[in-house]
Amino acid sequence: MEVRTRMAPSPTGEYHVGHIRTLMYNYAFARQNKGKFILRIEDTDRERYVPGAVERIQDVIKMMGFEWDEGPGAGGPHAPYTQSERLDLYKKYALELVEKGHAYYCFCTEERLSKLREEQKASGSEFTKYDRLCLNLKKEEIEEKLKTGVPHVIRMKVPDNEDISFDDLILGKITINTSSVDDQVLLKTDGFPTYHMAVVVDDHLMKITHIMRGNDWVPSTPKHVLLYRFFGWEPPAFVHLPNLKEVEGTRKLSKRYGSVSVIEFLTEGYLPVALNNFLMFLGWNPGTEKEIYSMEEFIKDFSVDHIQKTDLVAFDRQKLLWINGMYIRNMPAEELWKELQIWAKRFDVFLHGKDAGEKVVYSILDLVKDRMKLLSEYNSLVHYFFEDPAIEKEELFSYVSDVSRGKEILEGFKSLFLEVKEWDVSKLDAIAHEFIASKEYKPKEAFMTLRIVLTGETATPQIFDILGILGKESVLKRLDSALKI
Ligand code: GLU
Repeated sequence: MEVRTRMAPSPTGEYHVGHIRTLMYNYAFARQNKGKFILRIEDTDRERYVPGAVERIQDVIKMMGFEWDEGPGAGGPHAPYTQSERLDLYKKYALELVEKGHAYYCFCTEERLSKLREEQKASGSEFTKYDRLCLNLKKEEIEEKLKTGVPHVIRMKVPDNEDISFDDLILGKITINTSSVDDQVLLKTDGFPTYHMAVVVDDHLMKITHIMRGNDWVPSTPKHVLLYRFFGWEPPAFVHLPNLKEVEGTRKLSKRYGSVSVIEFLTEGYLPVALNNFLMFLGWNPGTEKEIYSMEEFIKDFSVDHIQKTDLVAFDRQKLLWINGMYIRNMPAEELWKELQIWAKRFDVFLHGKDAGEKVVYSILDLVKDRMKLLSEYNSLVHYFFEDPAIEKEELFSYVSDVSRGKEILEGFKSLFLEVKEWDVSKLDAIAHEFIASKEYKPKEAFMTLRIVLTGETATPQIFDILGILGKESVLKRLDSALKI
């Protein structure tokens, strides 16, 4: 049997990092088993529909490096893969259930239903349920109402007080009694199916073999299991994954603590490979010490047995930042430059060095990448290589006892560098040290002052490396402008 997994996003907002984690597991499982990974758009909730979200979700999935074998754009034997284009199908199946006596028409108004909910709440019920008023309508009454176009829904007839069980590959056997299950609406007044209806029909028709999704869907699964039974279909395997939480307590990921959507993380300058590597471990681990995983390795090592049997896993933002920095540090300059260019283009960000030669940019990257944790830090780490720094007098002389000593040091450096014929980093290092020793300057006062002149910063890579890249002309120019201050 071909393994077929799916990711089924709803275009109700921006794509969340948790969604990518779930997508990755589905993707890896399909790839590992030489199966198919399907993308399906579940856009049946018209009230929560966000215009443009369908396109943005697909873009983000691609930005993160994933592609789907079947789905929007890719096509496939079960097209269309967008639920709003499959409405006739859901209607047909809903009517089949009515026919079989597993579903019924309900003509109750929203007013009546909300009143009912209020009453049930007021009487202290644990959960609110439809009271099945319409279940008792006579055939003729139903036909009359349908003929005159009375707005209606189709509801599933959930058996009374029955234990519904299913085997979850991670959580084991789960049993939920139907006394807590409402007669779920399957087809809404607007002719759209509900999620529960569409998900079952599509997972069946699209021959999905494994459903991997967040464990917030566990309580809904009995409804799905019942629908499979009503239709006489074999349910797929269920794999419910832990959801993500902030490190503190049991809070869901929240904007209060930082980014939540994938696009926000990418905008901030997280590398897709690093973000993926971090997300892989939110619910799964290989059972070894290995922490750095490429997607190929993950596809090889991923296994459902190693998914954590827990409700929530902590999304450690500090760790993510650390991993990102590590990826940046270990990336060859050439590759890092490519990533920076992709990022800048994608988010319309100006990038220093775009017009400088690649060689120069590579050597600058080699100098600064140890300090870079996010792509977005690049400009502020390299600006002084490309533009004269703005320097305040107070800052310039903050490492010397007084202005005249500062001036003397800078003048000394100027005459020293003026004489240099071969502008070479180790030579510059040697003569500069000789110079300050002969004058008995403290290395800190001399080099910090020089550093501020050249970069406007107090924390930078090795000053001689900077001198080397800047070149004689621009070093002398910056010394001159500082002396004018
Ligand atoms: N459309 C659902 C969602 O947005 C899919 C849930 C599932 O995977 O069954 O989460």
